[in-house]
Amino acid sequence: MLGLMQNHPLLISSLIEHAERHHGDGAIVSRRVEGDVHHTDWTTVAKRSRQVANALDAQGVGFSDRVATIAWNGYRHLELYFGVSGSGRVLHTLNPRLHPQQLAWIINHAEDSVVCFDTTFTPLVAAVHAKCPTVKLWVAMCDADKLPADTGIPNLVSYEAWLAAQPSAYTWPQFDENTASSLCYTSGTTGNPKGVLYSHRSTLLHAYAGAMPDALNLSARDAVLPVVPMFHVNAWGIPYCAAAVGCKLVFPGPAMDGKSIYELIESEGVTMAAGVPTVWQMLLGHMQASGLKFSTMTRTVIGGSACPPAMLHTFHDTYGVEVLHAWGMTEMSPLGTVCTLKNKQLAFDDAGRMRVRLKQGRAVYGVDMKIVNPDGQELPWDGKTYGDLLVRGSWIIDHYFKAEGASPLVDGWFPTGDVATIDAEGFMQITDRSKDVIKSGGEWISSIDVENIAMAHPAVAMAACIGMPHPKWDERPIVVVTLKPGTEVTREELLAFYEGRIAKWQIPDDVVFVPAIPLGATGKMQKMSLREQLKDYRLPGV
Ligand code: AMP
Repeated sequence: MLGLMQNHPLLISSLIEHAERHHGDGAIVSRRVEGDVHHTDWTTVAKRSRQVANALDAQGVGFSDRVATIAWNGYRHLELYFGVSGSGRVLHTLNPRLHPQQLAWIINHAEDSVVCFDTTFTPLVAAVHAKCPTVKLWVAMCDADKLPADTGIPNLVSYEAWLAAQPSAYTWPQFDENTASSLCYTSGTTGNPKGVLYSHRSTLLHAYAGAMPDALNLSARDAVLPVVPMFHVNAWGIPYCAAAVGCKLVFPGPAMDGKSIYELIESEGVTMAAGVPTVWQMLLGHMQASGLKFSTMTRTVIGGSACPPAMLHTFHDTYGVEVLHAWGMTEMSPLGTVCTLKNKQLAFDDAGRMRVRLKQGRAVYGVDMKIVNPDGQELPWDGKTYGDLLVRGSWIIDHYFKAEGASPLVDGWFPTGDVATIDAEGFMQITDRSKDVIKSGGEWISSIDVENIAMAHPAVAMAACIGMPHPKWDERPIVVVTLKPGTEVTREELLAFYEGRIAKWQIPDDVVFVPAIPLGATGKMQKMSLREQLKDYRLPGV
């Protein structure tokens, strides 16, 4: 016997319809490439996303065809999120920080038919357009009179002229909720990038889950600043959650430096901001140097890499901002776990609560996880035993785009490539990426632990721990650091700082000072490049 309830497909168009009908005057604020701060609302975003849909119809872009963006976080990008997916095309968000050759490879692999780009990226488009035969239209996201001239880019129109030619009346099509909605390639450190193809259903379930109190805790009372890029896993799903709950959205555009972010938080009354640790480091650096405080921000979601304990303490102790440490990946839409305390943990003392908060957190309902040993046997949830972390759920990848024959799953579970512990309360803690773990004399050393201690030293700006070959121990850790401007610390002082904070055998063998640590396209440390840079390095005494 089937249930007797209405069966509406879970479609992205329903999000923008809801936001327009129930939160129409809700503000959407964007710092723009043009240099100003632009104000709009959900009603206007909805209207213009219908114009996007009409423009794609007029262009003859077919159902499920890919429409790409190379863009910062902003209202035009938001309109494309709804206009492209809502009308049944696939929104393909491209990462502008990739090498042009890689970008062209991805555009060709996805067979993008239209590419919309912020004018910051005109030189990038000029460099790749000739290598992208599938692209029939290039849309510069600017006013008609600002269309870049003499670029050699064929079939180039301005976004505003493209939209102005279209009516705002449009009926969103209804189709199977399992239809593809958006596409994001993983930054993969080896081999070619791999496409993760989300569906309307996975996106909506993820949006429901993401807004829950123990996840991102979003509501119509919030003003949310996603610093996490809309080209990286759909800004962690925040644009969809925001439409569902009707919160105010504040977009940073290209200005990600500490001063710009701080000013936007204060001027727009931001209550919650989301980003990777490297961005928050710039914000905190600016605030500390200028003696500033937050007046409205109460919480921040930090994920993408491990949140260093020193950062968590600064947010909590100095600024009264609750840190929601979150873990996920492109293949998971991305939400997997978020760290929020359970009722009984509220009674812990400060140190006890901090110990919990430093973990990556509990599985959001909809995600199931387990840790296994190399034979695939499930390991206990004791907070000590670590193993390979596997996940499954309705917004987790089944297989990669155009790789139907090759399932990445193991007995229905997706291997994340992360190594983790899970405690008796279900709090997961990432010890490492499996390829970054340092194997010393048969024991594993967590590179994250080594980095976190260095980052707690007042002179250290950034730290990366990597394993170096050792004739006796296989590998020994070294820590590569950059220093904060105007500070000093010697190798011996930093090594002494580890005493008592970590087991003796886990203390790095050496410190290497560098001017900068290479960061990847999504702000994560690139240990592959670092290893390459240090290929002639030898451990002391080896
Ligand atoms: P991406 O798909 O590029 O977002 O990368 C996903 C990977 O980032 C995960 O598999 C983890 O290795 C890492 N990651 C994400 N969030 C965290 C976190 N909170 N702590 C540690 N690593 C993280």
